[in-house]
Amino acid sequence: MSEELKFHYLCPECRSYLRVWNNIIFTVKTTVGKRQGLLLLNPELGNYTYISHPSLKFIEGESVEFYCPVCHADLTAMQINENLIRIIMIDEDNNEYDIYFSKITGEHTTFKIEKDNIIERFGEQSSSYVNYFMSKLKQKLND
Ligand SMILES: [Zn+2]
Repeated sequence: MSEELKFHYLCPECRSYLRVWNNIIFTVKTTVGKRQGLLLLNPELGNYTYISHPSLKFIEGESVEFYCPVCHADLTAMQINENLIRIIMIDEDNNEYDIYFSKITGEHTTFKIEKDNIIERFGEQSSSYVNYFMSKLKQKLND
């Protein structure tokens, strides 16, 4: 990707910028192998390539805990689904979205949400979450 992306990702807790250059940076801990380290995700939604140190091995199907590298908040979207991570996206017009993605290794699911609307979704497994997701979002707004 040659053109610099015009949007940012923030930690929902401390609102620090998580994207540096062309990576979204997290600290992660694998639940099965109990390994921890830095994980750099591609900032393009629906692109599931990542960079990590070779010592950080992911086992297919295992859950990975994601933390903000600045404030160390657990980024699990507990109100929606414990298998999803939530971060904030801000576009060039200052619109704010919630981005949810799966923390299960190999599960390609990403949602871009504005209030209670799914704006976009990516990944071959995302359809299995849609109904569940919509009911949870409505519930959350009514709380
Ligand atoms: Zn934070």
